[in-house]
Amino acid sequence: MTAPPTSCDILIRNGHVLDPGSGLDGRMDIAIAGGRISAIGPDLDVTGAKRVLEMRGDDRYVVPGLIDIHTHVAHGATTAGVGMGCCDPDEIGVRSGVTTVVDCGSVGVANLGVFPVHVLPRARTRVVVYVNAGSHAHTMPGWADMASLDEIDDRAIASCVEHNPGLVEGVKLRLVGDIVTEAGEEVINRSKKVAREHGVPLMVHIGDFRAAERPRPDRMGEVTRHLLEALEPGDILTHLCTPNIGGVMDDAGATLPLLTEARARGVVLDPALGLGNFGYAIAAEQAQRGLHPDTISSDLTAGGQSFQSLVECMAKFMAIGYSLREVVAMTTGRAAAAIGKQDEIGALAVGREADITVLDLVRGDFGFVDTTKASFGGGYGIVPVATVRAGELVAPGWGPHPWGWLPADAAEVAR
Ligand SMILES: [Zn+2]
Repeated sequence: MTAPPTSCDILIRNGHVLDPGSGLDGRMDIAIAGGRISAIGPDLDVTGAKRVLEMRGDDRYVVPGLIDIHTHVAHGATTAGVGMGCCDPDEIGVRSGVTTVVDCGSVGVANLGVFPVHVLPRARTRVVVYVNAGSHAHTMPGWADMASLDEIDDRAIASCVEHNPGLVEGVKLRLVGDIVTEAGEEVINRSKKVAREHGVPLMVHIGDFRAAERPRPDRMGEVTRHLLEALEPGDILTHLCTPNIGGVMDDAGATLPLLTEARARGVVLDPALGLGNFGYAIAAEQAQRGLHPDTISSDLTAGGQSFQSLVECMAKFMAIGYSLREVVAMTTGRAAAAIGKQDEIGALAVGREADITVLDLVRGDFGFVDTTKASFGGGYGIVPVATVRAGELVAPGWGPHPWGWLPADAAEVAR
């Protein structure tokens, strides 16, 4: 059956469409009209496309718009402890091949107003907001970590939610600071109560690189185990591959069974690499044990965005042995499901808002450095070529490095 020719705004022609969640993997065209995907298929009969993106080469892929479920984009809230150190959402979003970013607790309820007033109205990237459980942000190491349980102000959060319907889509807790060893279980329980009260997921940061300097670092493992028992389906454990104290591989004999149970009941395991929470050896051991992350996220901050990108985080997992198909799944369909938006984003389907990323897979001899300063090699880099967000075409920026998007040369890293 041949459908009549249709017109469209953008035609992405003859690309290698890869959407693991929808089972698409092959050469086809995608037509976009009115901000939505209007047709997908081989050799679409489309006339009058206002713009045609001709895809050439075997290594150019058309994938659902990438979703980064751990970023910091409370851009403009530049007070230490309340949002300092955040990225422009479009810089790490649409100009980096990413159509949706989740801000993970860059600000607490004290400063959450920065989103509806300053950030959301001008971002082209879709921004999802998770409020910090503590009133002030505790995003950055050493900046005003939660000092007391009173900082979890459930009434202020409830009032904020009431006055900003739909704004708060999750609660973020950073299990860092003396309070964790003193009262970590209570911190977790109170934060979870807030999340449940508003029917949103709780995302929890594990691992504290300063734990060794704090009283009772030995408590960190107990607290992490309490967390693994407390997390419910849809909650998110972030920094799965952290080498810091409090990570899931500490006391693995006691911790891993709880982690396995947590995953089995639907807790999301996310690595959120950042600069401070990715151990290559840990990620490789987890891969060997079959403990694969559900998602890949960047944890980008203003400081981190000149060192890596979400696509480079994907390349790091390819260096461990994950396939392109797997890392795309982890940043599209699975990432969408992790934040409860699988019916809206993360897939290429007719009728959906047109969030699409065009990527080049580049083979090479690349080098990476992890949080422990250990270097490792990989055979792939990923470069964003074009982003379509709600039907609008956006060109990518320069990339995180002085030379652009590709990871460093292995020879440079070895030096
Ligand atoms: Zn973070």
